[in-house]
Amino acid sequence: MLSYIYINQTLKYIVKQLGEKIYCFLIILLFVNCSSVKTVSFKSPVDTTSKPILYQPKTTYKLLDVGVFASNEFDGARLNGFKKINDSTASVIINPENQPINNSPYYAFKVWSNTSKPFYFTFKYPIGFKHRYVPKIKSSGTWAVIDSLNVFKKDSIITIKLNLSSEPQIVAAQEIQSSNDVKKWYSELALSNTKVVNLKSIGKTQMGRDLPVLDIYKGSPKGKELIVLLTRQHPPEVTGYYAFQSFLETILKDSALSNEFLNSYHIIAFPIMNPDGVDLGNWRHNSGGVDTNRDWSMYHQSEIKQSVVFIEKVLRKNKTELILGLDFHSTWYDVFYTNTDRENTTLPNFIEHWFSSLESRIPDYKVNEASSNSDKPVSKGWFLYAHNAVGITYEIGDKTPKDKISLFGKESAEQMMSILLNK
Ligand SMILES: [Zn+2]
Repeated sequence: MLSYIYINQTLKYIVKQLGEKIYCFLIILLFVNCSSVKTVSFKSPVDTTSKPILYQPKTTYKLLDVGVFASNEFDGARLNGFKKINDSTASVIINPENQPINNSPYYAFKVWSNTSKPFYFTFKYPIGFKHRYVPKIKSSGTWAVIDSLNVFKKDSIITIKLNLSSEPQIVAAQEIQSSNDVKKWYSELALSNTKVVNLKSIGKTQMGRDLPVLDIYKGSPKGKELIVLLTRQHPPEVTGYYAFQSFLETILKDSALSNEFLNSYHIIAFPIMNPDGVDLGNWRHNSGGVDTNRDWSMYHQSEIKQSVVFIEKVLRKNKTELILGLDFHSTWYDVFYTNTDRENTTLPNFIEHWFSSLESRIPDYKVNEASSNSDKPVSKGWFLYAHNAVGITYEIGDKTPKDKISLFGKESAEQMMSILLNK
């Protein structure tokens, strides 16, 4: 800062001497020098400067006369209010972190009671938002999808019935994978693969949470083409994260294929792009109130800025190019969002090969592809426009069963490695 002030003073002095035009030119030069990464233009820009968000008061709500309790005092919780409707029903009030926001209300709360009894919970969202996620219940340490017999729908309002007891249960839109849970997973993965995985921090979020990256290669990274994997830009998209886990675990499996692959290629994997949003129980945004998957143009948000700076640094240092970027998400169904431009990319035939080999490897499986170039500043478009690389948004359905996700992750990693080794 001091040196900036000094430079600014000096420039002001030069203005007097040389005039306004030269001052402007010098300021532009200074700005270009300070900004270490190139911004990327998109057809439909999105304003991703930070906006305020609503924080939930962290508390345990007590309906003392009926002996029922609800809490949001844990990472990944989302419960903005809890009110008794009658002796057997309460409304669960859920609000987004800010608006406008996608119609994907995320909720997560803990409930228990003084005495064992059935109790009903009615979900209440702000006007214009509808229930999306089928509740998952965690009791005695295990997650299960709620029995459909305990879900009631009236005029699009959802009520669920739970058998309460003094042992707390968690009700959530998706299984909870907080930043601590994710850290436990990648730390163990890095520890058991110390020869190939370098676990690093690329910096901090606005709220001071760590932004981790797994830097993966065998021998020297010099000249090895780069593949980027990322996930959890959108906090509730846990099924996509499960595919990311299976994908990365397959690459790190001690197999002949992965050994050969890691001798030839370099992977950088971001296991949690938006840890603030994840722990705050946000529906979609980060702590800057922004959809980070619209920030791959100007990098206003620290999560994206620091990831891009890291990627560019790796490329410069190793004198190599980025060839493929996979961004793992969740949506209503399994789908791969691809770019239409392929011919002039680093891997013009990759997508075709990858999809056809997935179909031949997975029984009764048909790839669902939706293709268009990105107009908005999403990662898929950034891979294409900034690096001429193949960018794919790898979406897993909200309801896709875990064993299927794990199979998709494994097969897609194996087929990617084979194709790239034979190119
Ligand atoms: Zn998403």
